[in-house]
Amino acid sequence: MSAYTPMIQQYLAIKEGARDAILFFRLGDFYEMFFDDAIHASRELEITLTGREGGGEKKIPMCGVPYHAAEGYVARLIEKGFKVAICEQVEDPSAAKGVVRREIIRVVTPGTVMESKSLAEKANNFIVSVSELEGVYGVAACDLTTGELYVTSFAAAAESLADEINVYHPAEIVGDASVLGLLRETSAGWNRPVLFTDRVPMAEEMLRQQFGQLELAALAPARHRAVSLLTGYLDETQKRSLGHVRRISVYEPNQFMVLDPFTRRNLELTETVRDRSKKGTLLWLLDRTRTSMGARLLRRWIDKPLLSKTMIDERLEAVEKLYLSFILRDELRRELNEIYDLERLVGRVAYGSANGRDLNALKTSLQHVPALTALCAESDSSTLRKLVAGVDGCADLAAMIETVIVDEPPVSVRDGGLIRTGYDGHLDELREASVNGKKWLAELERREREATGIKSLKIGYNKVFGYYLEVSKANIGSLPEGRYERKQTLTNAERYVTPELKEKEALILEAEEKMVDLEYGIFIELRDHLTAHLHRLQKLAEVIAALDVYQSLATVSGEQRYVKPNVTESYDFVVAEGRHPVVEAVMEGSAFIANETKLEKADSSMLLITGPNMAGKSTYMRQVALISIMAQIGCFVPAKQAEVPLIDRIFTRIGAADDLIGGQSTFMVEMKDIQIMTEKATAQSLVIIDELGRGTSTGEGMAIAQAVIEFVHHEVGCKALVSTHFHELAHLGDSLPHLANACMAVQETGDNVTFLRKLVPGAAGSSYGIYCAQLAGLPSSIIGRAYSLLEVHARHEAAAAASELPFAPSSAGKDAQGAASASAAKHASEGIRFGTAYAAAEKSAVYAAP
Ligand code: ADP
Repeated sequence: MSAYTPMIQQYLAIKEGARDAILFFRLGDFYEMFFDDAIHASRELEITLTGREGGGEKKIPMCGVPYHAAEGYVARLIEKGFKVAICEQVEDPSAAKGVVRREIIRVVTPGTVMESKSLAEKANNFIVSVSELEGVYGVAACDLTTGELYVTSFAAAAESLADEINVYHPAEIVGDASVLGLLRETSAGWNRPVLFTDRVPMAEEMLRQQFGQLELAALAPARHRAVSLLTGYLDETQKRSLGHVRRISVYEPNQFMVLDPFTRRNLELTETVRDRSKKGTLLWLLDRTRTSMGARLLRRWIDKPLLSKTMIDERLEAVEKLYLSFILRDELRRELNEIYDLERLVGRVAYGSANGRDLNALKTSLQHVPALTALCAESDSSTLRKLVAGVDGCADLAAMIETVIVDEPPVSVRDGGLIRTGYDGHLDELREASVNGKKWLAELERREREATGIKSLKIGYNKVFGYYLEVSKANIGSLPEGRYERKQTLTNAERYVTPELKEKEALILEAEEKMVDLEYGIFIELRDHLTAHLHRLQKLAEVIAALDVYQSLATVSGEQRYVKPNVTESYDFVVAEGRHPVVEAVMEGSAFIANETKLEKADSSMLLITGPNMAGKSTYMRQVALISIMAQIGCFVPAKQAEVPLIDRIFTRIGAADDLIGGQSTFMVEMKDIQIMTEKATAQSLVIIDELGRGTSTGEGMAIAQAVIEFVHHEVGCKALVSTHFHELAHLGDSLPHLANACMAVQETGDNVTFLRKLVPGAAGSSYGIYCAQLAGLPSSIIGRAYSLLEVHARHEAAAAASELPFAPSSAGKDAQGAASASAAKHASEGIRFGTAYAAAEKSAVYAAP
């Protein structure tokens, strides 16, 4: 090590403090990376890897990026899951003895980026910390760009922890190693890559300064620990005070509907299964917000449907009033259009990165608040009136920005030109001097032109030589002797100074420098003043965001003809003419077929849905789940009428598209999900299982399906929708009083089958698998052959089974029915087929058929 040059030694010492980050080491106008960092970064950023002599035997690998373009490079590394430590020169190089002193001023990590290039406007960027203390898990989630901090805890159970954390779509998780170990295993199926850090310091003393004794005293131990770990990590990486993270929002997990990560994805709440995009999701459909704050809040509402009828009704009341008054909605939308992202502006103020334009955006936003709150205060919605009652519009802050900052400030805060004339007497004097100086220069130019007779003589300025007189080569001969001192020679001209100009230049430049410094000082003073009022701005931002979400939900509800659900604390889920909100929205015209839902305690709380592929089974089941979620976030629902009971948890087991991510077999994943369901479902839950029992042999699959259905029916007693291609399971309707059969109606015309997308009572006769193959364009020889084989196969099986188990419908039924339907598919005459809505007598007749 000692062979290295002093600078490389300094580099290595600093790198010790940032071993898990790529170190951006400031050298003049570049950030340089060395050693392994250079090798990694050059590969990830596709920049040239070079070498540098550093006193060692070999050249040191090195690469670099210009400092003014660093933000983009940092963003790319963060996206790829790296941390980046920014190391700056912290003393003036000209004043330094030896190597310039350097320090890491901040470590940028995926969960703590503040730079807009790395952030999605309409989504939060959360960093989550986890703790474990005496059998309790604590979770704290913070968005550093807005200052939000949420905290909760629950009895240690790995799935609950994963469910809770997934709600935040975290970019980064820190905290106790024991818990991180668990999360690493489960995070494979999450929707974005997560960076884990487990060596995190605690920040006990700092906590008190940050949050105050009162907030902290209210925290249970595991929650306290989670907050402490988070604060410690933020302090270690951000190395600055976080003036906007002052409020801890504590909640209990049982305040919200539980949705596990797979259910969230399956129902496509905020991301589609196929490409994880927003388009085609519930969020996409409901998002008619006008501000980014509103958009982020809507996402949080969708992520956390409520469980309190009072709170839901409150939201629904606001949505209803806005739904009914187009004018109010329109006026609100117009005001909201003028409001910038207050939450992130607050974050930038706290970080000291807000410039003049940011402050003006803040001002403009605040200037629209009175109109916005007046609209609500005068509305007939009690929720909206309550929301804005006593709201602090921060008018004083807007007025202050207005007096200090000019209307169109430059991007930079260090080059002057951003403070209004009349605000500061001394600044005005300096400005005056500078203006006079400029006038004097113009006058000098005129005088020199006259004196020399050179019309093209002009005065110019550059950073190296200062002010000069420029004379073209052709005119040099006309210059008088002595007074002109040559400064710079160009191809076509010479530049000169005169003693007079030199003297005045010193004065002008000094005034300008002072002016710029003074302006910067005034700006910082204003920014610091705002920093002391961030909590007020944050409160206001919350109100505006909620208003925006209300108008968004009302706007969509109006456009899509939704109705206000009657949310109840009872059991029954009854929907008339329900629709799938997203499928309906992407379909042309009004082609979507509405369907009823009736899941009642006294009658049938479970529905076993059979029917061919593509008939609309999973669309229907998702529709029921989405109606429940929409109602519980306080939105109207796609139906003619809806009685929606509070659902504490939705389990879905749908599709196999994403199952392979975890490297497990589809069947194993299905069984694990079902296991969790059996453990966690309550009578208040909603269970949705699509294609139960596939992925293993027919016999086993069917046996398991039946056993699971019986379990949910007898033990859980919750509302459930189960679809299966084992239409033979329909007989369960006889033995299970709360289970009803339903199927998707199809119309058969000769060899053609038309899907009617209509849910009707009874069980389907055939799964039409071969018909689907035909639709997919398989050669007719294969299709013909398959139909014949099916018929033969079915006849054999049926004969054998009937002789062995003549009175056991659950095993003999499938084959007899298969035979019946195979020939039906082939020979059916035209007519609507309501599945096979057997009466008991018909059933036994079919089962007994040879
Ligand atoms: P299944 O689960 O029975 O295989 P899906 O629910 O996937 O069938 O539905 C197949 C397609 O049918 C969907 O992509 C959708 O476009 C259409 N569909 C489903 N339900 C309806 C409906 N009620 N009205 C109109 N089209 C529908």
